[in-house]
Amino acid sequence: MLPLDIFNHLKNKKIILYDIDNTLIDVSERYRMSLRESGLDPNINIRKIPPSERNRFWRVFLSNKYMHLDKPNQQEIKKLNKKYDEGYGIILITGRPGTLRKDTLEQLRRFAIKYHALIMRPKNNREPDKIYKVRLIREMVNIGLNIIEYHEDDPGTVEIIKEEFPRIKVIKHDLAKRKFIFHDD
Ligand SMILES: [Mg+2]
Repeated sequence: MLPLDIFNHLKNKKIILYDIDNTLIDVSERYRMSLRESGLDPNINIRKIPPSERNRFWRVFLSNKYMHLDKPNQQEIKKLNKKYDEGYGIILITGRPGTLRKDTLEQLRRFAIKYHALIMRPKNNREPDKIYKVRLIREMVNIGLNIIEYHEDDPGTVEIIKEEFPRIKVIKHDLAKRKFIFHDD
């Protein structure tokens, strides 16, 4: 359930949604270190590993241990900040768990990313990103937010958002693909 009051001041704005990891922030080093620490090949495609063996990786990756290795995607952050200055409402939606909220806020500040709201995955939510994000966007649409654009790197999520919300312009980012992490091909 979304904390509706944080959106009240965004009701009259055109809203742009941004994913964080591999859209605004390059997490490729954290990805490789987390694989290494889990005893896995740092160049492997995580999707090719059996789910039981992925858990160790996710535990490290979704902790703050290697977050200091993350780098800002300057080009995209510059464009985002320009949109913020032009009056668009900027909402960040991420699959990062709420336990990383403090570290994420600190990172957003350090990388000078401007935004109006940050929505993180609630405690104990284990839905795949694409299911979780579709539900989240539907809730936002239902409370009357005028979402015009969505930025995302995950191909599966891009496809499902396009399908479910044909009026939202979906911008697909290729940072993960270029860095050869979380890649499908
Ligand atoms: Mg992402």
